[in-house]
Order: sequence, then structure tokens, then C-alpha cells
Amino acid sequence: MIINADLHIHSRFSGATSDKMNIQTISLEAPKKGINVVATGDCLHSGWLKEISQCNVIDEGTFELNGTRFILNTEIEAEKRVHHLLYFPNITSVWDFKEKIKSKSKNLETDGRPNVSMSGEEIAQICKDLEILIGPAHAFTPYTSMYAAFDSLEECYGSLADYVSFVELGLSADSDFADKIKELHRLTFLTNSDCHSPHPVRLGREFNRFEVEDATFQQIKKAILRIDGCKPVLNVGLPPQEGKYHESACMKCYTHYSLEEAKRRRWRCRCGRKIKKGVKDRITEQSDFTQPIHPGHRPKYIHLIPLPEIITKAVGQRNPFTQTVNKRWNELIDAFGDEISVLIDVDIGDISRVTVPAVTEAIQAFRQNKILIRPGGGGEYGKIELPQTEQDLELPPNPEDIQTSLVDF
Ligand SMILES: [Zn+2]
Ligand SMILES: [Zn+2]
Repeated sequence: MIINADLHIHSRFSGATSDKMNIQTISLEAPKKGINVVATGDCLHSGWLKEISQCNVIDEGTFELNGTRFILNTEIEAEKRVHHLLYFPNITSVWDFKEKIKSKSKNLETDGRPNVSMSGEEIAQICKDLEILIGPAHAFTPYTSMYAAFDSLEECYGSLADYVSFVELGLSADSDFADKIKELHRLTFLTNSDCHSPHPVRLGREFNRFEVEDATFQQIKKAILRIDGCKPVLNVGLPPQEGKYHESACMKCYTHYSLEEAKRRRWRCRCGRKIKKGVKDRITEQSDFTQPIHPGHRPKYIHLIPLPEIITKAVGQRNPFTQTVNKRWNELIDAFGDEISVLIDVDIGDISRVTVPAVTEAIQAFRQNKILIRPGGGGEYGKIELPQTEQDLELPPNPEDIQTSLVDF
């Protein structure tokens, strides 16, 4: 069977997260995005683990509520502020892991994403002993990532580098960027939302499509390890230009700089503040190849712009959190079931019967790859722009565009 899985979120027990990140709301919102499996996040936190245990038990590592499946996972911040993602086979392994790190953490019971004063190698050793999967989270971001602190997997995980089975690309990168780095070729790429809110512009904005026999932890583990016929078949994510740290840019005034210019300016903006190195430039520094070379096992990567963002632009709203955007989003989801169907599959004529012309035209523009993106950087998300002229929208679709962006859906 084919499943869509968002394997990195945060609960209401993590810092700076929405109160709505409770298990009930997540279980109800995920299907509207077309997501079947969500990794819980924050599973080392007692309060969150208690909430997870209200779910139905599918097996020792898989839980279910309102039709959404959950697997146990957490993110932790290790030495040098590197973030790691962990996937646990069962609740016993969660308790055992906690026991082994508790003397190294001061906020294990207070923050869903705890800090531990341990190296990547020390954590990976415990993970290996307890059969927990581990890999770097949002590997290229300028803060709190493996490539922010280190130049290689081995520097980060030492003798346990071989045990690492996946790397999370983060919002500002995709397979074309990451496959310029040779040491990542053997790893499975994960594309996850890392969301702090269940709003449809966040939850499931990136996800993985796996071929598995059942939507369980053990099957997803096999898919990540690519064994027994289980495998990732698609990575889905934002266009990397939409990410907050895609290009190098000033943290204050958001002026963008090329890598050469930023170096020449010694990473100081003309306004005096610091220029933050973008993911694009960090990957260039790490690249072994000028063009991506995809290994045979690498699935296709598809860029999706969240539907609420498209609606926001179409109906002239400032942000996607307004009632108007919600109303337009809900009427489409009520009519067609989930967001992926609306963005990709449903006949545009059927969409036009449910929503206003401006939204239909904007969805059509997305399908024709006509939405423009001003790249993000310095902590500011990229911005999307709809094509300007009516005439532009009325052009017949270019079959090739549709081919490249819609295949597999
Ligand atoms: Zn993180
Ligand atoms: Zn500046």
C-alpha cells in the first residue's frame, strides 16, 4: 500500500508551539492534508506521552486516532546545538532512552524538544543499542543543524556514522540540492513539515510517500532502510526558495547577497547587521558535484505550495490565517476530501463549480508552474506571486509542465 507520512512535528509541550497541537486536533487535521501517518514528536515528554497513550494501539510502535496513525518520535538538541530526529520501536525504548540521557539533560520534563549535553556519536550509540532510528534534522539550516556545526556525517556521528539511515532535508532544500553531496547518496531523504501548528499552511507542508505493507512503525522503518520491498516512492515539499533560510541574507533588513559578495563583505550587511548563510550557499560549499547526481534508489521530488497560501494570494489577503482563507479552503476540502486532490487531481472544471474564479485561476496557475517565488533568506519566508495578466492565465496548459509537476499523483 501507499501512505503519506509527515514524520516531524512538535506538540504543545515544545517551545513556541500552538496550544492546538494536541493529539485530537492533529488526528483530525492530518487527513485533510492527505496525510495518513504522523510522527508524534516530543515523545520523551511525559505529558505528551500520556496524550499519545489515549490513542488506540495498533501494535507496540503504532497508534491510531480518528483514522490517523502515529509513530513515536522526538527531536533532540545535542552538543553544538545540532538537532537529531529519533524514531522509536515502542514505548519501552522511549523509557529506556530517557533513563540513559536523563543525567545529561536539564529540560527533559519541561520541553518537548530537550537539550542534551552529548555528542551525536554518544546519542547514536544509545539509539543503536535500543534499535531506535537516528538521523540529522533539517541538515542544512544555518542554526541547529549538522552542516551548521560540522562538515560531514562522520564529524557529527563519529564511528556511528554508518548507523545513520536518513537525513531530513528541511524546508529550504530538496533532492536536487542534497544529491550534490556524495556522502548523502546512501541515505534516505526525509521531507517533513517540522510544524508547530496544525494549520493547513504548516501541517503536512512537506511529507514522504512510502510503499509499505501496512501503516506501522516496523513497515516505515523498513521503508527508510529500503528493505523487504518497502521504500520511499516520493518526497513532497515546498519549493526550496520558499524556505526561511534559502539564500544568504541579512537577519535584520533581509537584503540578499550572493555567496561571493557575502564573503567579500565578511558576512556584514550594509546596514551593519549579520548576513546569515543560506542553505543554498551552504550546500554549494559542501558539494562534491556541480549538478545533482541521484542514486538509483532516490525517488522523485515534487514541489507543492500549500493550498492556503495559493488561496491567500488569489483572494487578496495578507496572510493565510484569516477567516476568508479558511472558508475558501474548507469548501474545497469538504467537496474533494483532501488538499493533495485539490492541488493535483481534481478536474479544474469541478473546482470552478465549488469556489470563486480567482481561486480556480490560482490553482490552475500552480498546476501550470506559473506561480513565481521570491526566495526567502535571513529568517524571512519566501513569497509567492501569482502571474499578473488575465491573458497569462488563459493560455492553454503546457503539457510538459503538467507532466513534470503532477506525475505520480
Ligand atoms: Zn529542529
Ligand atoms: Zn541588513
